[in-house]
Amino acid sequence: SLAEISLSRVPDEIAPLVGAFNSLLARLRDAFALQRQFVQDAAHELRTPMAAISLQVETLRGHVPPGEAAERFAQLEAGVTRAQHLLEQLLDLSRQSAPDRAAAESVDVETLLRESISQLMVLADRRRIDVGYEGRCPARVEAPAAELRSVFDNLIDNALRYAPEGGVVDVRLHEVEGRPVVDVVDNGPGIAPQWISRVFDRFFRVPGSAAGGSGLGLAIAQAAAQRHGARIELRNRDGAAGGGLVARVHLPVH
Ligand code: ADP
Repeated sequence: SLAEISLSRVPDEIAPLVGAFNSLLARLRDAFALQRQFVQDAAHELRTPMAAISLQVETLRGHVPPGEAAERFAQLEAGVTRAQHLLEQLLDLSRQSAPDRAAAESVDVETLLRESISQLMVLADRRRIDVGYEGRCPARVEAPAAELRSVFDNLIDNALRYAPEGGVVDVRLHEVEGRPVVDVVDNGPGIAPQWISRVFDRFFRVPGSAAGGSGLGLAIAQAAAQRHGARIELRNRDGAAGGGLVARVHLPVH
């Protein structure tokens, strides 16, 4: 965070310099706040017309004749879904950096995971993915429920999108070396080792990734996790890309 240096703690000779530095910091902070607010407002404003477009597209779906028109229509539909997803992620991102974040509460991890899975079942069904859940230990985390949900939502959403059609996704809450972890495991392509650290960067997508992503999900998830003492670790199931990905959330122990 950007904190001013206290003038009472610096020698007189450099006080003017520190003063100038402090006012520069204040302006920087204002500029960041303005930029964040702009992204939030723009994303928020775009939501309404996007929802209207999405509704129209849904209504028209049954009236499109098969053939080329239907193919183009499917592309249009995928584009609308993608744009809506991107808007939600931009909103998430701008809310995260807001100073007035939601208050922490004691949340039951299993409840959150079940909510997350049930909300994403539409996507799982569409891609005929078999989703399994196993909770081997109770776990509670002190954090705003919505922020923790966004960690799980993003990881499960990724697993469902990168697993092949008809694939398998398993969510497991268990203990590793006496500490609670959540594993989201899929049987998709995994991530080549040279990209594993980069996929947490904003807008970064592994070259050749399946279409439809924004590159924001993991950045959002990792930032939310770290704010509450959790951490996401990614590794390939077989030690090399190709056999599926294990996204592990190390939960904080209170
Ligand atoms: P998005 O999925 O929207 O592109 P993310 O930040 O969630 O953005 O992920 C960044 C990149 O990491 C993705 O583009 C993809 O290349 C890779 N990735 C994320 N999750 C998985 C996964 N479960 N299996 C394979 N690759 C993944």
